[in-house]
Amino acid sequence: MVTVCPECKTKLKVDESRSAEESLKFKCPKCGAVLLARKSNTDAMVEKARRLAKTVMSDIALYNANIVEDAIRNDTFFDILGEEIREGAQLYNSRVSPEVKATGDYYREAIEAFLRKKREELGL
Ligand SMILES: [Zn+2]
Repeated sequence: MVTVCPECKTKLKVDESRSAEESLKFKCPKCGAVLLARKSNTDAMVEKARRLAKTVMSDIALYNANIVEDAIRNDTFFDILGEEIREGAQLYNSRVSPEVKATGDYYREAIEAFLRKKREELGL
């Protein structure tokens, strides 16, 4: 996206592929003014966070495929996979901006959606 420095009116390109936190605040390379870049709208960022959460959750399921189903059957999912879930949360938290986190816990949502789906598959 392109934004204009309010100090020197230089047109600046903001790389949106950088993580949300990085691109929220940056310095104008011409005059050094600190700018707040408005990234794409919140909906798109929420959608991105949801996708990330889903990806993190499917990776956990994939790497632990041999124990996930038993853990769900025995209702020990959070005990057995606690460490993986915490690591996933760290990754999620490092890549999702506080603004988006304030709108909902999409990581928790992804875990719950996964568990619902698996329980259904397993006929639980
Ligand atoms: Zn400037």
